Amino acid sequence: MTKFTAWIKTIIFYEILVGMKATLSHLLRYKPITLQYPHEKRTLPDSYRGMLALLRYDDGTEKCVGCDLCEAACPSRVIKVFSAEVPGEPTKRFAKEYYMDMTRCLFCGLCVDACPVDALGMTREFEWAVYDKRQLRLNKEQLLAIGDRSYPVREKRLEFQHPNVAFFNVAFKNLPEKEA
Ligand code: SF4
Ligand code: SF4
Repeated sequence: MTKFTAWIKTIIFYEILVGMKATLSHLLRYKPITLQYPHEKRTLPDSYRGMLALLRYDDGTEKCVGCDLCEAACPSRVIKVFSAEVPGEPTKRFAKEYYMDMTRCLFCGLCVDACPVDALGMTREFEWAVYDKRQLRLNKEQLLAIGDRSYPVREKRLEFQHPNVAFFNVAFKNLPEKEA
């Protein structure tokens, strides 16, 4: 490049013009992708992992059997389960108290995978900004309420999904009569 060409490029701000050309070409070619949240919302993918919820069967009973496996699986110690016997049914347990400290949650889904009865679900709720983070320590009733609004279609109880469960479950109320 001659000295004269370099001098011309300097006085017309050549590099800036090259940059502006790229900017203008993008401006004309592409539509804006910024959404005006919260007035506009992005369509979430089916596999979206949002707020956790406790689920019920179609007759309203809680699915959770208080086994603590979700608590053991959680790498962030989000979950605390206090289980107890179902009154009058000593072989059955339920979660008497269930807490999740969502300030610690990674939304990894390991607790959902660990649950043997599919009592946990990940919802599409994400608008959980609060002023006081203590509001993100959720109890069983709050988690069930999230499940109720996010999963309006519920599964049948396990013994009705799989008849052999009803037969072999020693705690099932309507056990067939023992043959003489
Ligand atoms: S999603 Fe992950 S971090 Fe959150 S409660 Fe479940 S296991 Fe723990
Ligand atoms: S949510 Fe599932 S894994 Fe956790 S205590 Fe209840 S039944 Fe067990």
